[in-house]
Amino acid sequence: MAVAHGASAFAKDRMFEQSDYYVAPICKTCGTIAIPANSKTYGTSVYRKARCPSCKTSEVVETEIPYSTKRLVQMAQGMHIKLKMNVVPKST
Ligand SMILES: [Zn+2]
Repeated sequence: MAVAHGASAFAKDRMFEQSDYYVAPICKTCGTIAIPANSKTYGTSVYRKARCPSCKTSEVVETEIPYSTKRLVQMAQGMHIKLKMNVVPKST
């Protein structure tokens, strides 16, 4: 019954959109977080497009995720645990 009154929309708004909203480029091939466009964090090069350092491609999907999820994925990578996200582009 709470769902019918918009509880899920309210929870999404408070706990995601107004909290730690983040748009991350996710690689379509390997499912990891790619390097954002115009970022200098990967060496000294600047890429105009988002780029996956593992696959060396620019086949990425801009995905809305909580920033805490990004941190979780990166902390797991630091422990050599790969968290793969299967992404499908939005159909318009
Ligand atoms: Zn990749």
